[in-house]
Amino acid sequence: MEKNEILVVYGENPAEMASEIAEEAGLAELIGDKKKRIGLKPNLVVARPAEEGATTHPEIAAGLIDYLQKNGFTNIVILEGSWVGDSTEDAFRYCGYEALAKQKKVELIDTQLDKAKPYDCKGMRIEICDSARAVDFMINLPVMKGHCQTLVTCALKNNKGIIPDREKRRFHSLGLHKPIAHLNTVARNDFILVDGICGDLDFEEGGNPVSAGRLFAALDPVLCDAWAAEQMGYAVSEIPYIGLAEKLGVGIGDPKKAIVRELNQPLKGGGFAKPGGKVRQLAQYIEEAEACSACYAALIFALSRMDRSELGRIQGKIAIGQGFRGKKGALGVGRCTQGFAAAIHTTGASCPGCPPSGAEVLSFLRQQQ
Ligand code: SF4
Repeated sequence: MEKNEILVVYGENPAEMASEIAEEAGLAELIGDKKKRIGLKPNLVVARPAEEGATTHPEIAAGLIDYLQKNGFTNIVILEGSWVGDSTEDAFRYCGYEALAKQKKVELIDTQLDKAKPYDCKGMRIEICDSARAVDFMINLPVMKGHCQTLVTCALKNNKGIIPDREKRRFHSLGLHKPIAHLNTVARNDFILVDGICGDLDFEEGGNPVSAGRLFAALDPVLCDAWAAEQMGYAVSEIPYIGLAEKLGVGIGDPKKAIVRELNQPLKGGGFAKPGGKVRQLAQYIEEAEACSACYAALIFALSRMDRSELGRIQGKIAIGQGFRGKKGALGVGRCTQGFAAAIHTTGASCPGCPPSGAEVLSFLRQQQ
């Protein structure tokens, strides 16, 4: 896998998807020496199940561990520290990681209980937990989801779990963006596998999961987050820590420079999570017929970025899904609705892409107003 690539896999079985993407990325070759200590860093910010949109599906870690063990890697550790005020031990138990570690015979480390040392993170002194520094190859397993302060959280912010609680408090007092960027000048991001199964719409604690049914892998954490921001309907300029990390040399912040390689086609349907109230509210603007979950998620993310007056100007319902292939209509999203715009003398419009990103859908919907 190349540094500027993003590999995407769609599906319903996160363990199989994780293993497939690791195979395609050549993860074993990327790691090299079988004796290396490999860290898996999920997002277990709170003790809530992955279906609620906050935490990494344990099946993804399970699929990766199976892949690693099959390839002869035995020194594997899962490490994480929940947010301040919540117990990582509870999260490990409740989110299925305690059972997983026991079953696969891998170590489990609560970084909230770990010692830490300060490091010069390109001009900012930041304490990082010893267990994270002891890892030779770090696999970052973030959830692509909304965040109440930074708007988007993905790979770069997930590394907040490898700093002690006192440092997490300081990050908040500094406004998060700058310290997150600096942290990633030292924190390892050797391979990133993003849980894009059903991350939350706008809140890191979950409650409004958006089913998208995909995982994506990257080697560059900045490019990874820039691409994720676009999928969620944001311009990179709206998420300051991405640009700051790019300026510090962590990676590339222009999602247009990503070479996206899809390993399969988006999947029809896929109710990975029960939609919360906000997602149900936005769904009232949509007429769905056999829509792929990634396409539907892009539309939900785009609608969530529109204010009340913009939503009020939407005429009728927005069509989406394979059931609209070859049909005519007024407003459609995704290549399946291209017939809306193709007919002669049509007044219909269709947002191209299969699936389009949230940012593309948002820009399309705004153009129609
Ligand atoms: S355009 Fe059609 S086939 Fe493509 S992702 Fe959307 S619903 Fe699926």
